[in-house]
Amino acid sequence: MALKALDIYKLLPKKNCKECGFPTCLTFAMKLASGKADAETCPYLDEATKQLLKGATRPPILRVKIGVGERSFAVGEEIVLFRHDKSFVHPPGILFLVSDRQTTDEIRRVATRVKDEVFPRVGELLRVNGIAIRNDSGSPEAFGKAVRVVEETAEFPEMLIAGSPASMEAALAECGNYRPLIHAATAENHGAMCSLAKRYGAPLAVRARGADALRNLAGTCAAAGVQDLVLDPFPETLGEFLITSTLIRRLALARSAPELGYPVYLDATAPGLEEAALSLGILKYAAVMVTTPRNPASLLPSLTLRQNIYTDPQKPIQMTPGIYRVGNPTRGDPLLLTVNFSLTYFTLLGYLESSRISCFLLLVDTEGFSVLTAVASGKLNENMIRDSLQRFGVEAETGHRTLVLPGYAAPLSGRVEEATGWKVLVGPRDAAEVPEFLEQSWKKAPGG
Ligand code: SF4
Repeated sequence: MALKALDIYKLLPKKNCKECGFPTCLTFAMKLASGKADAETCPYLDEATKQLLKGATRPPILRVKIGVGERSFAVGEEIVLFRHDKSFVHPPGILFLVSDRQTTDEIRRVATRVKDEVFPRVGELLRVNGIAIRNDSGSPEAFGKAVRVVEETAEFPEMLIAGSPASMEAALAECGNYRPLIHAATAENHGAMCSLAKRYGAPLAVRARGADALRNLAGTCAAAGVQDLVLDPFPETLGEFLITSTLIRRLALARSAPELGYPVYLDATAPGLEEAALSLGILKYAAVMVTTPRNPASLLPSLTLRQNIYTDPQKPIQMTPGIYRVGNPTRGDPLLLTVNFSLTYFTLLGYLESSRISCFLLLVDTEGFSVLTAVASGKLNENMIRDSLQRFGVEAETGHRTLVLPGYAAPLSGRVEEATGWKVLVGPRDAAEVPEFLEQSWKKAPGG
């Protein structure tokens, strides 16, 4: 069971000596309770208390990192059953599947897509996370060769799928230093697979059908010293996956089955059901998914759903504040102020681009709040507008001192003119009306 800060505090030496790096034992207890400190850093705890605290303060679902370097990704650390309770933390990794029976050219083509293919959306780059290589041939040599082809193409996270420890060892010899996900330890091979995972420091997927069998096998692998586990409930249908993954999440969050406190894997390759499987996995608790290489039109909805579900609803997606150019603006073209809430920016941008009006956009930092909220909360005010105009050297870019405020910021117009010395025009509230407003009002504006 998780301990609260005061329960933890009762177990501490209460010396307030600061040797743990925190000013008091109570602060240390609060950090431990929120998972931001390690019991090891207090030198006065006996071993039994340390173990008790570690067990009680470990995250309900452990973090597992797959791959190394820039493209590596972490999964786990989820703390809620429903996104609206707080937020989901790590988007599931989606991997394209290749077989060691495919030709070198075919494997290389898929690997190149994983390396290069990106889809820009609301200020983020959406992409597949890596590649899964499956040992369909049963041959260690063929498996090793397929992994080598991927390795030669690019460096991104890999998953190695083989039932034979000999094949797995041949593949790990090619990429073992890069923390590939080993799939999978089963009731038959877990001893050998655990040895390989420990030797290469790689995460290990554990495969058994149903929560009970998984719990036993994961417990065995953890006891053998493998820390980074991923659970494959090996479902026969998507319905079975939904039931098992939900049960695993519930038990893990309740901390009533710590052996199930790991991220979950879903094989999303069933022909004709790939999109359904990806959607289900994104919504209901898959952390790593393998799918056949989808064409971009079929893949993009899954990537978009993942982005939406794993966006923290409490933290709006933000744009970097600054001057943005729409079309090819030259000195004298309109300057519009807006906020750095990405949805506001992209909505306005869409209307401006379709009207082919060239202009400057000044995005000010409202911490991702919309115009209305930023005005109401005081985050958008005359002083920060004055500071933004100076900080981004706006006048030197635009060649004039006339600024269009959004309609919802109309109450600020007088104060902005006073604070900045700029002429202020109040635009419409609806972004759809901005192009017409500029057509009608900008040419009449002094400096416009
Ligand atoms: S090192 Fe231990 S005894 Fe000292 S302040 Fe930290 S928790 Fe308290």
